[in-house]
Amino acid sequence: MTAPILRSLAELRAKTTEWHRDDEMIGVVPTMGALHEGHLSLAQAAKEGCDRVIVTIFVNPKQFNKPEDLANYPRTEHEDAKKLAPYEVDAIYVPDPQEVYPEGFSTTVSVSGLTDMMEGPFRPGHFEGVATVVAKLFLQAQADRAYFGEKDYQQLLVVRRMARDLDIPVEVFGCPTVREPSGLAMSSRNLLLSSDGLKIAEHMHKVMRQVAQNLAEGGDFATLAQDAKARLLAAGFSEVEYIDLRCAETLESLPNANRPARLFVTAWADGVRLIDNIPVDSA
Ligand code: AMP
Repeated sequence: MTAPILRSLAELRAKTTEWHRDDEMIGVVPTMGALHEGHLSLAQAAKEGCDRVIVTIFVNPKQFNKPEDLANYPRTEHEDAKKLAPYEVDAIYVPDPQEVYPEGFSTTVSVSGLTDMMEGPFRPGHFEGVATVVAKLFLQAQADRAYFGEKDYQQLLVVRRMARDLDIPVEVFGCPTVREPSGLAMSSRNLLLSSDGLKIAEHMHKVMRQVAQNLAEGGDFATLAQDAKARLLAAGFSEVEYIDLRCAETLESLPNANRPARLFVTAWADGVRLIDNIPVDSA
């Protein structure tokens, strides 16, 4: 059976108030819809960790810096509800925009430090949009736990920092990236790739794994990054925006894998911006 779709905060609060009265733990999975197995793995984790699960679907206008990206973002609510059915979540919250940003809405949540690098400078305003909407969704859903993908690792850390800084009593869990058999990280954006673009995109994870292995063997990142960039361009990527090795907790830049680290890559293939990251074993 598909879960009830709730569109107003009043309907959502009626449920969450009842659940909390019964001492049930509420988990929330924020998404923008167009669900794939990556999103569904978060619903699964939430089901395992909580008594009640709310999946939110909201294409958040504030986190898009290009109006055409917002307009083109896939909206597949009916299919999404069907895909969620086997997970037996308790509610799908698809708020009308005015439930999230009512007339006169004037508040922005901004997280400094963690947003200064990688996606931050490349997507001005993006993390403010994310932090603002996620803060609202946490509070609207009165969530005890929240589930995010490591696919968007910087976002995961930003959201965790925001909840801590604002004393929002929610525990933020990161879940591993779900990949295609080729290693390509699942993403709604993969749908925009042609079959040639898909073949190019599949090189990204292979190159990243090679770099991670060389780093774990004590390699120097600057040299490995140069080589990886050349390999990605040779494979058909049109542009590599960044290849970074960073501390897994603070995102500070590292010269080698001398402590728990992650490797981050963002590159363009076939007109599509692809992002991925993987853990790197310490050398
Ligand atoms: P989105 O709808 O793209 O904003 O993503 C909603 C949530 O799903 C975020 O927490 C993402 O990190 C997560 N997510 C997206 N792709 C994947 C994936 N391949 N594996 C795991 N989680 C993912």
